[in-house]
Amino acid sequence: AEAAELEAPQHADVARLLPVPAAESDKYRRGVVGIAAGSARYPGAAVLAVAGALRGGAGAVRYVGPAGDAVIARFPETLVSDRGPERAGRVQAWVVGPGAGDDAATVAQVLAAEVPVLIDADGLRLADADAVRARTAPTLMTPHAGEAAALLGVGREEVEAARLASARELAQRYGATVLLKGSTTVVAGPDGGPVRVNATGTSWLATAGSGDVLSGLAGSLLAAGLSAVDAGSVGAYLHGLAGRFAAEGAPAGAHDVATAIPRAWRDVR
Ligand code: AMP
Ligand code: MG
Repeated sequence: AEAAELEAPQHADVARLLPVPAAESDKYRRGVVGIAAGSARYPGAAVLAVAGALRGGAGAVRYVGPAGDAVIARFPETLVSDRGPERAGRVQAWVVGPGAGDDAATVAQVLAAEVPVLIDADGLRLADADAVRARTAPTLMTPHAGEAAALLGVGREEVEAARLASARELAQRYGATVLLKGSTTVVAGPDGGPVRVNATGTSWLATAGSGDVLSGLAGSLLAAGLSAVDAGSVGAYLHGLAGRFAAEGAPAGAHDVATAIPRAWRDVR
């Protein structure tokens, strides 16, 4: 029955999964998230992904890519590397793709890493399907309906009309967890099982850069040790709440959503 195939986590479920640092934690035990995003054309995507990642619970955020100056100007706590992902140093989960343009080589390098990877935006288009399927560490793909439609080779309206089935189909094809974004977000694991549904969001989240913030946030949760399904569903839950807090009935920018993530954490805890 359809009802048993769906799970809708509530505050208490999410609270149990939040990566709160133990008394003896250090930044490495909390996790290092690597952000491979942004381009000369879209430096802001890198900044917004880092903004989300800094509020996701990892102990450090490492950035690789051409937007290092913009990132460091906004977030001086970021570890900026001028090397590629392979030689950037310790990373416990990667986020690849937001604003990445056509940098397929970086996407391929990240997919070859033996740590969890979140693939978003341009990264979804650039990722080789066989390379995704060949991965042994968890993979989380975060398309919106248009991106999912392009991956499936169907029209956007077909995805909108069958969101659960589309997420499941993609998850099976790629052997990955798929978080399909939209007014309700669904998260489907690669092995079937119940699909998690999130409706904490608000239509004010339909704003440029909003998804970039989610990618960093969920990537940070992956680096902190959550499974792909948990990182995706907790990330979407917090992101939706943060959108509500940022907007409160008036327009907000994506950077405001990132700034409101700590308030979402406190609300859940
Ligand atoms: P992107 O399209 O990559 O910028 O991602 C947009 C983000 O905003 C995703 O997290 C969506 O789930 C969220 N979002 C977009 N439109 C809506 C909406 N109408 N209601 C709730 N959330 C939305
Ligand atoms: Mg996007």
